[in-house]
Amino acid sequence: MTNSPVAFIDIGTSRLDVVESLETSGALEIPKPLDALSGNELVRKAQIGKVGTEVLRYLTNAFTGRGFTWLLPVIFSKSTDPLWPDPGASIEKRVETEIYGETVRTTLSMIIHKLVACSTAYPKFFVLSPNVRIERRERKATGWHAYEFTQLDFELAGAGFRDVRRLVEAVIAGLVSHVKKRAERELKSLGRYGSLKTPETPFRVYDREDLEAKYEGRWEVSLPQDIREPVWVTNIPREFYDFEDAATGRWDNYDLFLPKYGEVLSGARREWEYGKIVAKMERDGVKKENYTLLLTLAKEGKLKPSAGAGIGVERLMTWVAGARHVGEVQAFPKVPGVVYEL
Ligand code: ASP
Ligand code: MG
Repeated sequence: MTNSPVAFIDIGTSRLDVVESLETSGALEIPKPLDALSGNELVRKAQIGKVGTEVLRYLTNAFTGRGFTWLLPVIFSKSTDPLWPDPGASIEKRVETEIYGETVRTTLSMIIHKLVACSTAYPKFFVLSPNVRIERRERKATGWHAYEFTQLDFELAGAGFRDVRRLVEAVIAGLVSHVKKRAERELKSLGRYGSLKTPETPFRVYDREDLEAKYEGRWEVSLPQDIREPVWVTNIPREFYDFEDAATGRWDNYDLFLPKYGEVLSGARREWEYGKIVAKMERDGVKKENYTLLLTLAKEGKLKPSAGAGIGVERLMTWVAGARHVGEVQAFPKVPGVVYEL
């Protein structure tokens, strides 16, 4: 807990500092701020911006067209995603501040809000949700991490992997066709038109245990290099809110991986039973006092079974545009370890 203002993320770095760290960053070129781009680089930035616009147009139409309610996001809450335990998480610092005498946190993900919203007024909804995850600075080099990004986070009452899978596969396939039509000129100029193919559905599903057996190193890194089409990975041990079968120990959750790039979506069928949620929080060392509302609803039997997922919007744009770094699709890049003026 801390009383310092939210801006304890350093905002004092000058543009010179940014440029200096760009120059010393090694093989992958770190995205530059708008004011540092050359004429050609500005053209490329604008083309990626058009591709991103078509991605957003398609996604929001796809979800509203299927009857999802579109909610607006929150930034500060007492309760947010613990992001723990999660083998993929790598948070250097958690942003907390005090407002009106209470400790609040910037959104790590809106998963807790999703569970509550889906169980009450909004059984079928999505939200474009800014997430602040101060990733370890070494992640600058992955080209796949940003310390501020947006999720298209959705939740569906009474659903399971089958429903989410059908929905997501149709959306990804439709998205590629749409963008190839609506941003043909830009994709050609970006050199992505030919290599971007509408993926074949259904996507393959891998079990995380099989991938661990197959790849000696980290499967999350090796898998994207081996696949030609998007694939699902299921059964990944992580946060308390993903459903875990108590008898078998299997997790009813799923990530979507994109060829060459990596994970673009993560989601699950959810836990809703009080006893199980409490037991998992205790097992994982997650502070129950940060989840009072969720636990109260669960105890009163008001939490309902659901399933959902969050799509990393900038990551999806990066893949569609064939960009080199996720920060390239951000007008104002938020590359781990780099504090830009804007
Ligand atoms: N959005 C994810 C979910 O729906 C949570 C996360 O961001 O990891 O499960
Ligand atoms: Mg998660």
